[in-house]
Parts: sequence; structure tokens; C-alpha cells
Amino acid sequence: MKPALLINQVVQKVRAEGGRMTAQRRVILEALVAHPGHPTADEIFASVRRVDPSINLSTVYRTLRWLEENGFVAPRWFEDDHRRERFDPLTGTHTSGEHFHFRCRVCNRIIEFDEPLLAEVCAAFEQRSGARVESAALVLYGVCARCR
Ligand SMILES: [Zn+2]
Ligand SMILES: [Zn+2]
Repeated sequence: MKPALLINQVVQKVRAEGGRMTAQRRVILEALVAHPGHPTADEIFASVRRVDPSINLSTVYRTLRWLEENGFVAPRWFEDDHRRERFDPLTGTHTSGEHFHFRCRVCNRIIEFDEPLLAEVCAAFEQRSGARVESAALVLYGVCARCR
């Protein structure tokens, strides 16, 4: 899915629910989508300030929480990152949020991947334990192909 489509999706959902897509929310959403991947709130803030200097960091946080509550963004944490929260726009095949991450410890690049086997792991666990799995997170760490 193209970034513009994600933005249209958000606008449509907000309108359908009688909410408001403010200019500031739109600028923040555009900065998130334009980022090469998984920015922190500070990184989003740095790029929105260039477009609209009146936006402050708490507006960025509030907008990110609002996007999260509406299922358009997922928070991510990577352990070699001092537990800084990063934001992942849920686009294209990733709309369910069920995708996973590889983090390169040299260049810090994050590579996304799908792993259907994980659904089997969850199903097997549910059978054994009687529990119901609601979400899954998997992060692999190593050295990416470029850095090797
Ligand atoms: Zn991701
Ligand atoms: Zn790398």
C-alpha cells in the first residue's frame, strides 16, 4: 500500500466516526509514513517541526496514541535500543500488525518479515495450554546482508 493510501484510510475512518482530521494530525501522520521505518516520537517531532513549527512534542505523542488506539500504528521496542519506543505504521499486508522484525546491530536497520510458522507455534501453544494468544512479537538480532 502506498503511504497516501494509509493517510486516506485514516481520514475516512476519522470522518466515519465523526472525528476531526486536524492539519496537525495530518502533518504528523505524513511524517510518520514518510520515515524509512519505525521512527521514535523525537524523530517524528524533528521532521514535523520543519513543516509546522507550532507543533509540540506532546501533540506528537497524543496523535501517536490516537493513531495507535485506531489501529493505524503499533508501538515497538527493540532491546538494543535502550527501550526507546518506536512507531510502526500498519500499511499494506501489515494491516493486522502481525509482522516481525530483524534488527541489524551494525547499521540499526530494521527489516520486516512475515512468518506463517508463528501461527502454528501459537496454535500449538493454545492447544497445550488452553490459553488464547492475542498477539505475538518476534525480534531477531544480527548483522544484515549489507553489513556482513
Ligand atoms: Zn514493522
Ligand atoms: Zn546492517
